[in-house]
Amino acid sequence: MAESFDVEYDIVVIGSGASGKSAAFEGARQGLSVVVLEKAAVQGGTSNFAEGQTAFESSEQKARKVPDYNDHYPSRTEGFNRYMDYSSKRCNPEVVRMQVNNTAETIDLMKSLGIVYTYVGIYAYDQPAELNTFHRPEGLGAHMQEVLYKACVDAGVEFFFSTPAKSLIKDGDAVVGVVAEDSDGKAIRIGAKAVVIASGGFGGNDDMIEKYSRFQSKNIHHIEGLGTDNTGDGANMAIAAGAGTWEMGCLMLIPTAHERGLTSHISGAGMQPVLYVNKKGQRFWDEHCALSFADWGNVLAAQEGGVGYAVFDADQVAHLVADGSDIGLGDFIEYHQKLVNLPMEIDEAVAEGVMAFQADSIEELGAAMGLDPAVFAATVERYNAQCDAGFVEDFFKQPEFLRPIRKGPFYAVEMNSAVLVSTGALHVNGNMQVVAAATGEPIPGLYAAGMDAGGLFGDAYNLDVPGSANGFSHAGGRVAARHAASVIKG
Ligand SMILES: Cc1cc2nc3c(=O)[nH]c(=O)nc-3n(C[C@H](O)[C@H](O)[C@H](O)COP(=O)(O)OP(=O)(O)OC[C@H]3O[C@@H](n4cnc5c(N)ncnc54)[C@H](O)[C@@H]3O)c2cc1C
Repeated sequence: MAESFDVEYDIVVIGSGASGKSAAFEGARQGLSVVVLEKAAVQGGTSNFAEGQTAFESSEQKARKVPDYNDHYPSRTEGFNRYMDYSSKRCNPEVVRMQVNNTAETIDLMKSLGIVYTYVGIYAYDQPAELNTFHRPEGLGAHMQEVLYKACVDAGVEFFFSTPAKSLIKDGDAVVGVVAEDSDGKAIRIGAKAVVIASGGFGGNDDMIEKYSRFQSKNIHHIEGLGTDNTGDGANMAIAAGAGTWEMGCLMLIPTAHERGLTSHISGAGMQPVLYVNKKGQRFWDEHCALSFADWGNVLAAQEGGVGYAVFDADQVAHLVADGSDIGLGDFIEYHQKLVNLPMEIDEAVAEGVMAFQADSIEELGAAMGLDPAVFAATVERYNAQCDAGFVEDFFKQPEFLRPIRKGPFYAVEMNSAVLVSTGALHVNGNMQVVAAATGEPIPGLYAAGMDAGGLFGDAYNLDVPGSANGFSHAGGRVAARHAASVIKG
């Protein structure tokens, strides 16, 4: 029996972030009727917080010719190989090919809508492994998403806010629509010739983090207001409809001071490659790893309790205030930004008892942190001796970050790992069609993009190619809608 619907569109898009709006805009440009269902009351999702996106062989790279750092802009071939190598070949080559071939188009499209790119290069100025793929737009992600939203509306896309998609409607093997809940809580059945899942992954869902990631969900923190609506709804609906997955447990993690945001100076200080100890009071890694926030986030999440303590002495605090950070975090904590609020923020955190510690001796600091003071003091002594020798052989730390801990008062900040988004997701092919777990064939009528599409990453987010997630979201959404349009138009 034919399905009955309350309303029908050519394409139904689930989620209004970068991937959803890119799909919607492309569908509308192809002359199709498109609706975007958005769970939140506003558009944009976590894409509003992105600072920039990756692209290969873009018009901006070509115009600039020589980047500020490293020696050249990468080719698509270099990009392809970097994704494959970084993931130990755990990426889906079809998806990686889609990425390197379609991200440059995003730059031209956004420029045609009025976006101006102010910088093209690497993300962290101190990270020599990065490729020069990061395109930073004026006004960052929030402006870009606003511009794309307006373009969608002008092109005739309809947006239903506060209207979460709940399940997919199937007819045989094919997906033919979506059940959504309107703002009054009423179910609406929406017919579609194609459905694009673009609901931003499951970073806001602790149960899914526990189930799919290699970390304990209790070790993964959330930053207030960032991605809490991204609860894996799209992935769960697709899995219920027979979809396969690809490296589903991959998360984009970032170190933050306990209960502090990304721009706080205490978080900025804590993510420097200073001395770090674990709950046993011992060093556990080469802290130089913090140059990639994503790698350092993974390392911290794997520690006991998901905790690492960044340890400073008075000289280091003075250095971070007067000279600025040794490493940056994009626009959140700029490279060499003077962390002038640090002393005040430490005082506040100590007073509030939120996992920042201050003491006049190393032993007292260890005791305040709940560590064995003797073990902690031995760790600091050994580290200082190795700093003096200019070679920290325990984990072969880079010499430029060797700063001994000698001058009181002494400080420690508890650093946790917070999730920005999940980046492992549904199995898609190079057209962003969702692939069935049972058959390995595309599920007719079903697409996924952005953080709901897997295959660009292995088990860790790749910061060697900065801006990958946002670049992927824009490009993948467009490719999905383009393929859907070709099927719909026959
Ligand atoms: C602070 C921060 C900074 C970042 N910076 C960068 C960066 O500089 N570069 C980069 O590449 N990446 C960055 N990212 C990652 C960024 O999230 C991705 O790059 C990408 O933009 C995600 O796009 P998306 O469309 O998949 O998801 P989102 O933009 O998160 O959109 C998903 C949308 O789906 C909606 N939704 C969820 N469930 C449903 C449902 N059931 N029904 C309807 N709608 C639903 C959500 O409300 C949301 O609006 C950052 C992330 C954060 C949090």
